Amino acid sequence: MRTLVLNAGFEPLAVVSFKRALVLVMNDKATILAADDDNPVFGSFGAYDRPSVILLTRYVRIPQGRMVPVSRRGVLRRDGHRCAYCGANATTIDHVLPRSRGGEDSWENLVACCLRCNNVKGDRTPAEMHWELKVRPRPPHGSAWLVRGIESPLPQWDDFLTPVAA
Ligand SMILES: [Zn+2]
Repeated sequence: MRTLVLNAGFEPLAVVSFKRALVLVMNDKATILAADDDNPVFGSFGAYDRPSVILLTRYVRIPQGRMVPVSRRGVLRRDGHRCAYCGANATTIDHVLPRSRGGEDSWENLVACCLRCNNVKGDRTPAEMHWELKVRPRPPHGSAWLVRGIESPLPQWDDFLTPVAA
């Protein structure tokens, strides 16, 4: 059982074990926003709510400039699984400037791409294809991208997670 930790400003901060979350609550460092009512925790002092979402009492400063590592899954997620060239459902990623021509593995040079466009494009640039990118690829930002474990959320977290911008 995992617990979503929200910063005092309500933005997602971390995903921890419910035991760790309970320790924070018992030390008055956090309050429970949502609990799994069907599965209370039994300890030597009695039964406790099993927290599924907690809110920190004090604001934790997040260091600026934390970079999200680029990944295939991340690119698909950022682009909402939509092909950057035709808008169809995308299952692959494409180097806008092909790797064979010096294109990098970067957020700016990778886009979600459908199989068809990927095959047609091959080692060419969008300009050579007379294609236009529907999106300007950028590194994603926001805590939803930086919190490990948040990409597979529990249903109880739904109300507390802001939708990820595509
Ligand atoms: Zn396409």
